[in-house]
Amino acid sequence: MTGSLDIRGAALLATPLGSTARRGRAQGEIFRLSEPAVRAEDGVLVFVGTETDYRREYAGHPADFTLDASGRTLLPGFVDAHTHPVWVGDRGVEIGRRLAGESYASIAASGGGILATVHATRAASDDELSGAVHRRLRAMLEHGSTTIEAKSGYGLTAEDEIRALRLLRELDGPEVPRVVPTLLAAHEIPPEYRDRRAEWVRLVAEEIVPLVAREGLARYCDVFCEEGVFTVAESRTILEAARRAGLGLRVHADELARSGGTLLAAELEAASADHLLFAGDAEIAALARSGTVAVILPGTAWWMRSRRAPARSMVESGVPVAVASDANPGTCYTESLAAVAVHACLDSGLTVEETLTGMTLNGAASLGLADRVGSLETGKSADVVVLDAPDDRHLVYHWGVDLVSAVVRSGNLVSSKSKVQSPK
Ligand SMILES: [Zn+2]
Repeated sequence: MTGSLDIRGAALLATPLGSTARRGRAQGEIFRLSEPAVRAEDGVLVFVGTETDYRREYAGHPADFTLDASGRTLLPGFVDAHTHPVWVGDRGVEIGRRLAGESYASIAASGGGILATVHATRAASDDELSGAVHRRLRAMLEHGSTTIEAKSGYGLTAEDEIRALRLLRELDGPEVPRVVPTLLAAHEIPPEYRDRRAEWVRLVAEEIVPLVAREGLARYCDVFCEEGVFTVAESRTILEAARRAGLGLRVHADELARSGGTLLAAELEAASADHLLFAGDAEIAALARSGTVAVILPGTAWWMRSRRAPARSMVESGVPVAVASDANPGTCYTESLAAVAVHACLDSGLTVEETLTGMTLNGAASLGLADRVGSLETGKSADVVVLDAPDDRHLVYHWGVDLVSAVVRSGNLVSSKSKVQSPK
């Protein structure tokens, strides 16, 4: 489908405004418009206004296709700035063991945990892996995410990391979210390098990063900077190599302990620092100075029954906060960013408005895309979520069900439940 698309009949449109990250009080400012109408032409929003103004402007010029959003709410397509979708395998059994009180270390020692996913992913055929990732990306789109950041990191060999990134490039297209690929070869020390970790750090920094950058396979490089994973010094080596190669930087920081990752991200002016459960005043001040987006992952903190990121302090200190899913097979297995939004509010203390900005415009800003996606404004990509609710606050209020009834990506209706197209 190309050409023009109208969305008519909605009760409300709710969106942050602008083409940069919103911080401080501005993160909570959502523009709401009753009885809105929207028109997209060739994938771009050309009209966002009231039904009355729409009729004046387009009298006698119907669009090629009209989406009836009767009584519903229009939101910007969600921007999920932190996902791990490239894997196969099934770790469902681990939930029972966790609930019985077994530690992650114990599960990992008996063959579970991240290395179970690494082994299964390495062993998968290209078709098997591609099929699994495609289904996952499709589910993300159907749950409202029109743009996602997607990490490698379950290959942990040069070949397998590059395979993951190539696969993401091959899958990118109109029927899945727009994909921003990130190299995460420093997700974990591979089992083969346990006794010679410096060699893996060197391989990542000196061979994998330059190769990935040269082939244009990733836009960002990420490191799991954490006690027991990659030290600050090792993370710095890899991130500085990535910066020299022209990649943007993201950091898994201070999730398990206060281990220096956030300060490193701020010092290197990374695009994002993610998790941040143990970030304290010094870390928050450093983020506020650097402009690095704090990507909080409230679904993971809740699921891990860990502490929560200090999201309120971040907002009040002027740190732009994004809310992302961390979709992954170990600690947060969901393709629904809307599900995580509930935890951002009720568990991490953000308002609905701050959360909506976090899962749209601020996510986009952390990916360098805030001038193209993340809000409903003319000139931006026509990425729209139709929420089966009279108000955006239902995103959190009416929880545990999927309220996303239609998704428009680049001006194309890419997902809909039949109820959307038939007027009430
Ligand atoms: Zn992650």
